[in-house]
Order: sequence, then C-alpha cells, then structure tokens
Amino acid sequence: MKADLYLKNGLVVTEETTFHGGVVIADGKIIELVAGNNDIAAQEIIDVQRKAILPGIVDDHVHFNEPGREHWEGYQAGSMAAAAGGVTTFMEMPLNATPPSIDREKLLHKREAVKNQSVVDYAHWGGLVDNNLVELEGLHEEGVIAFKGFMSESGVDFKRINDDVLYGGLVKSRELGNVVGVHAESEYVTRFLAEEIQGNGRTDRRAWSESRPPFAELEADKRAIYWAKVTGGNLHIVHTTIAEGIHAVAKAKQEGVNVTVETCPHYLFFDNDDFVRIGPAAKCAPPLREREEVEKLWACVLAGMVDTIASDHSPCPTTDKVRGNDNIWQAWGGITGVQAMLPAMLTEGVHKRGMSLSLLVKLMSANPARIFGLYPQKGSFLPGSDADITIVDLDKSWTLIAEDLFSRHQQSAYVGYTFKGQVERTIVRGNTVFEDGKITIQPGYGQLLKRTTSKP
Ligand SMILES: [Zn+2]
Repeated sequence: MKADLYLKNGLVVTEETTFHGGVVIADGKIIELVAGNNDIAAQEIIDVQRKAILPGIVDDHVHFNEPGREHWEGYQAGSMAAAAGGVTTFMEMPLNATPPSIDREKLLHKREAVKNQSVVDYAHWGGLVDNNLVELEGLHEEGVIAFKGFMSESGVDFKRINDDVLYGGLVKSRELGNVVGVHAESEYVTRFLAEEIQGNGRTDRRAWSESRPPFAELEADKRAIYWAKVTGGNLHIVHTTIAEGIHAVAKAKQEGVNVTVETCPHYLFFDNDDFVRIGPAAKCAPPLREREEVEKLWACVLAGMVDTIASDHSPCPTTDKVRGNDNIWQAWGGITGVQAMLPAMLTEGVHKRGMSLSLLVKLMSANPARIFGLYPQKGSFLPGSDADITIVDLDKSWTLIAEDLFSRHQQSAYVGYTFKGQVERTIVRGNTVFEDGKITIQPGYGQLLKRTTSKP
C-alpha cells in the first residue's frame, strides 16, 4: 500500500523514546515509525527538518462555554485556539455552559449545538452535581469520558457535591468503569476565609489567594482519596497545585486506590507574585501559588508523580476580567490557556528544567487518552492509531501577543511572555489543521469521540 503522507527527518517522540526518523500515514492512521532518513513511497513527503514530531496533545480539561455562553468562547474559536496550541483532541467540561451537561438530554443538546464547529477532535465530560446520581448511567451510555464534580462552590447552575454524592458517584464510577474527576477545595474553609478577609475590607489580589490556601486543597484531596479507597471507585483530581496533594495520591496508589492526578501549566509557569502583577487575567481557583510551592510541584512533575497536564482553559469576555482590576473578587476566575500550554511546558519544563520530551508526551498525550478511555486511538504512535501529530520547532523563541490568540476574547495571562518552542503544524487524522500561524481546515472537521474502554 502506498502511504498518503510521510513526515521525514524529524525528532520522533514517543512515551518511551526519542529518535531521528519519521512517521508514515495512510487513511488518517499511523502506519509505522521509521528510524533514519529512509525513502518511503508516499503521495506527499514533508521534510520537517529535524523538528520534533509529537503524538498530538490531548487536553483533557477545557471549557468552551457552548451552548448558552458562546459569547465567552464557543467551539469554533476554542478549537482553533486548541489547534494552534498543538492540541488534536480536547475533552470539554460540562459546566460554564447553559445548560450544563448533567443528564443525557442536556448532553445531547450540547452535542447538537456544537456539531460542525470544531477543527479538532473532541469528547465530553458529564457533570456530577448534588442531585443527579441517577443520570450517570445515561451519560455513560452516551460516551462521556468522565464525570466532573465540584467539592467547592462553582456557581448557581452547577451545584457542588457533598460527601454523600461524592461517595455515590465513586460507587457508580466503579460499576460503570468510568471516572469521577473532582475540583478539590474545602468549601467550608474557603468560604470562611473569604468572608473573614472580605470583612476586613480587602480587595487586593493576594486576598484571593489567601482565601484559598494550600491546606484547603489538601483537605479535599485527602477526603476524596478516602472515599475512592472506601468505594473502590475511580478518582481523578483535577488541577492540583500542591506537592502535598500529589504525595497523598502517590501513597494512595501504593495502597491500591484507583486515583490519578492532574496539574496545569499555569501552576507551573506562574507564581503568586505574577498574579499580583498580572491581575485578573491570572485569577483562577485554586489560585496560583508561592514560588516555593511552584518548585515543589515541578519536582513532582519531573519525578513522574503527576498523571496528566491539562490547560483548564476557562475564558470569559474581557469585561468580566477588567471589572476586577481594583477589586479582585469581582473578576471571573479562569485562565485562557489552551493555545499557550504546550509552549509553556516546553519553555519551563523541557528547556529550563530538563524535562524529557517522552515525559511531556506521556503527561500531555498518552496518559490523558488512557485515563479517559480513548487510548490507543488517541495519544499514541502505535500502528493503527489516529494520525494526530504536533510538529514543534523546539528552538524557536517567540513572544505571544494578544492578536495571535484564536480565542474569542484575546486576553490571557500568557500574553507578553516569551517562549522557547513553537507549534509549527498540527495534524488531525492525517490532515493538517494548523500551519504557520493559520487554521487550514473548515470548522466541522473535528469528530466527536466517546469513551471506548473501561477504566481498568
Ligand atoms: Zn476547569
């Protein structure tokens, strides 16, 4: 069989190894990896000139706000930002859209609203809220890749869960072979601290961080892990910011608890001083941490103790950020990050701290595909896997300007930063969707994915 595409003369990266060679593609699938500069017959041959060829980035945590809040982001803009960031598959959260995906009907409503819009492939999270345990099976049958629950308050239409629903949800995750992902912060302690700090008249940026301290996160981590242990359920802790939480996960893993843990590039790229300087664009929950904590988090990443790195891309209209300039409580919390996350990890991880490209691929492509039931269709260079590929110029230095963002609202905490490592081309199922700063495919090319494997 003659191949469709041969990407040659690259630095091929897999979870296990990195070598000089190329990737052969036919019918949108990986056929084989080849070492060296061998001639292979193909319709199209691209010499990537020693640039890095990575399995496409799988971002398991984005908010694209559709339906109902398309004016915040939407699938078209959000997926283009993803493609520009080297992301070939995104998994979208059930909240910050109206209605949130908390039952089968609302999920199908979302799918109808977002179809024919994405330029990359995508899957959906279902929601776990205070009163929808009976809906989890229906969501699972529709192929949601996990259920998202908030242990602290997240807004009026997505009710946080208490221990009863967390327990029940984890039981269901075991029965269904699915996963519960939690936002882990203590509602009671963060609320108490926020009221106390606001009572003192504080509106400064540090006030936000002080209201959501590391210990409030650790308590929730440990409580969630405890219920995962009791139930035998499958737990994933999203956007962890603290090393102590990751150590708690590591200990639980040793005891046989089914738990995995995510962190985000912004908790590794920025610290609390950056938040004070940047302001609302860098407001998020949990908040950015002090430098000492950031370095401890890096140590966990480099030691292989973190399972996934995801963007938690959570944009909003610029006005919802600006209104918090002088009163941080007024700003929307969420960082526009899907487009910058790979460059951020290349800059601070690979170049600055010696993170191997194989580890990066494991945390940003293979593991998310595995945990959320899409492996090896996604997150892999195995023969037969989808030909999803991110080509990166590792040595290119460049500065992100707002006008380069594909997001609907061109603001981000990452604007103005200089990165080392640039996404040059993004390929989904054998077709180029982004190249040299431009989207090269029509909206609607991206396909819906469903969980295909049970959580082991
Ligand atoms: Zn999120």
